[in-house]
Amino acid sequence: MIKAEQKPFEEILEYLAPYNKILLSGCGACVTVCHAGGEKEGALLASALRMARQKIGKPLEILESTPARQCEPEFAQELSDTIGRVQAILSVSCGVGVQTLARHFPATQIFPGVNTTFLGETVAHGVWEERCQACGDCILEKTAGICPIARCAKQLLNGPCGGSSNGKCEIKRETDCAWQLIYDRSKSLGQLHRLTEIIPAKQWGVQSRDSGPRRIVREDLKV
Ligand code: SF4
Ligand code: SF4
Repeated sequence: MIKAEQKPFEEILEYLAPYNKILLSGCGACVTVCHAGGEKEGALLASALRMARQKIGKPLEILESTPARQCEPEFAQELSDTIGRVQAILSVSCGVGVQTLARHFPATQIFPGVNTTFLGETVAHGVWEERCQACGDCILEKTAGICPIARCAKQLLNGPCGGSSNGKCEIKRETDCAWQLIYDRSKSLGQLHRLTEIIPAKQWGVQSRDSGPRRIVREDLKV
């Protein structure tokens, strides 16, 4: 899922300074799971903002809403009635949700309340780690289900750099070396021979976003 972290409170407070009535819109999907922008986090942030503004004698009225998925047009549309009653939107969804609202409500200023960080997995309560960089051409079948693009600091496709020590990455010592993980898992699966197959250089300009934003079109689903 998409992982995100709430922006520093002072940053949010600063860009909301010109407004006295806003909508705080959360999202019931990814940012709820990583406790960055769900209904509960939205309510806590709204309370803190109201108090901070009350304290300086500039009250801020905040309407709150948490669509099931802010990035889907039908859920974004649920906010239509509310948008007409506010001066700005503070969105605590991921950057996709923010841009969905920006597209649907072009006349309303919108601010991001979270920093969208990565596609990741929950590895312990309160701990999330990056797992995928959406490269557009998945090679996990060749690397024992462990992604060298998201998890190797140098994005090496055909084996380790030689700098790892005790299974840790030389770039970020607290992180496991992705290629150590790939080797260990391949060995335990009896699939070490697969690592002798050369993975060709990825076509970054074609499949990844290096040539600009990507688009998926399913003709069979278009109406
Ligand atoms: S190979 Fe690409 S699509 Fe597959 S997990 Fe890694 S970054 Fe994601
Ligand atoms: S030590 Fe491992 S994870 Fe780190 S850059 Fe080298 S191969 Fe990649």
